[in-house]
Amino acid sequence: MADGIKGEMVDVRDRTARPRRFVVVGGGISGLVAAWRLTQKHGPSAEVLVLESSPLVGGKLRVGNVGDVTVDLGAESVLARRPEAVELFSELGLDEDVVHPRAASASVLSRDKLYPLPPGTVMGVPVDRTRLSALAGILDLDEVARAGQERTTEALRLTEDIDVASWVTFRMGRAVVDRLVEPLLGGVYAGNADRLSLQATIPQLWQRARAGRPLLEGTQPPPSAPARPVFAGLRGGVGRLPLVLAEKLEEAGGEIRTGVTVRGLARTANGWRLTTGPANGPEYIEADGVVLAVPAAPAARLLSAEVPQAAQKLAGIETASVAVIAAAVPRAQLEGLTGTGLLIPPIEKRQIKAATFSSNKWRWVSDEKPEDNLIVRLSLGRAREESTLQRDDADLTELALAELRELIGRDVRPAETQVVRWGGALPQYEVGHLDRVHRIREAVAGVPGLAVCGAVFDGVGIPACIAAAARAAHDLDVSLRVSA
Ligand SMILES: Cc1cc2nc3c(=O)[nH]c(=O)nc-3n(C[C@H](O)[C@H](O)[C@H](O)COP(=O)(O)OP(=O)(O)OC[C@H]3O[C@@H](n4cnc5c(N)ncnc54)[C@H](O)[C@@H]3O)c2cc1C
Repeated sequence: MADGIKGEMVDVRDRTARPRRFVVVGGGISGLVAAWRLTQKHGPSAEVLVLESSPLVGGKLRVGNVGDVTVDLGAESVLARRPEAVELFSELGLDEDVVHPRAASASVLSRDKLYPLPPGTVMGVPVDRTRLSALAGILDLDEVARAGQERTTEALRLTEDIDVASWVTFRMGRAVVDRLVEPLLGGVYAGNADRLSLQATIPQLWQRARAGRPLLEGTQPPPSAPARPVFAGLRGGVGRLPLVLAEKLEEAGGEIRTGVTVRGLARTANGWRLTTGPANGPEYIEADGVVLAVPAAPAARLLSAEVPQAAQKLAGIETASVAVIAAAVPRAQLEGLTGTGLLIPPIEKRQIKAATFSSNKWRWVSDEKPEDNLIVRLSLGRAREESTLQRDDADLTELALAELRELIGRDVRPAETQVVRWGGALPQYEVGHLDRVHRIREAVAGVPGLAVCGAVFDGVGIPACIAAAARAAHDLDVSLRVSA
């Protein structure tokens, strides 16, 4: 495949001599899926090139090693109730490696005590009247009663988006937000229920709110309903997914260049010119079609010249930075510890927001080195609370471990730890997000040969990213056909 040429521009898109060239910017799961779909669709009639700024593909999917045990250092599971991720596992021949978390439950901290996460909730919001008693403990008796007396009135059909906290507080009382919604929503978005969009983050409840239906309904499934696992993972880590995908993509003729940051994107008479390389020695890559699969901030920078309306909207999207500390803890220190982990809402005034007992949660992790260490993952960082993460690795680790010791009452002294910082990792789906996304896509669709995808669009979870990437590949195709 032709390379970018230092200091001068070479048009490699002579359609009589060469196949079409598609360039995908960003080698996270979104970019790799977009590239994979383009490769499948066009076969040898197109060149597909992925440009990734870091040395490895995968973005927020990454496996690492702590205490001689392989662990996920970013995302660690996929929602199995959506089809996209499990279908991709299958498509890549990974069926044999698909695993599900052990059935044990996680706990949530409330007023300094741990309680099992209650059933019958959607993102922490109670939706099942028959299971309200399971909230006792996490909520006090008055708070449970208030939740059960949901304030409903037919006149209250939501007509426009609202933050999750306002809606749930109005209906069920603030305690439901502080003690149930925040720990779950915080786990996904590292965000704040007072700012996050009901429409974008809990669409099932948004639909009810629009229809004027109550949040609480008798939704307990009949006992005969087969229990389908909600989450899935991969033996060896979900971080393997981009590595396997990259391999298949290259086998199918796609090209991946890592360590290449795209700094500029400009339209030419026939397509696009991407600028890479240092400012004093730029290199240019020509393309017929471009998919941007990068986070909001770089996407805004790259679109600023050609699609300023989209760039401006992307630049306004806030992000949350988070950190994961993976710890290999001598087995004796955690002997008998049950459950898959803990969730800690902001109201409890701790810095860690979650602890995952990976060796309890995933059999493949405990099988790796059963005689030795157990793996615990600690998560820190919430939107607008960057100061916690400004500590150095040693301080951050000590802070997180001190809190863990207090919460589980064990003297945890890990044999090895690893800190991974994910700066600006989680886009905040604030009120009006879906409208913002619609306008960004609309602006991009007005420009031939360009499409966008990534965690900022239709959901931060892996299945949503896969769906948005497939859509971008399709949109690019349509756009080129229309403009041909
Ligand atoms: C700690 C953590 C845990 C998570 N856990 C889960 C989970 O368990 N399950 C789940 O479903 N989701 C989880 N998520 C969310 C999910 O992992 C991400 O939303 C998803 O992986 C984002 O993929 P992406 O490809 O859109 O973006 P990214 O993974 O951010 O990939 C974008 C890529 O673009 C590259 N890039 C940026 N700018 C440029 C440029 N100018 N030129 C070239 N390349 C560039 C970046 O280096 C990066 O590799 C988690 C996220 C985090 C941070």
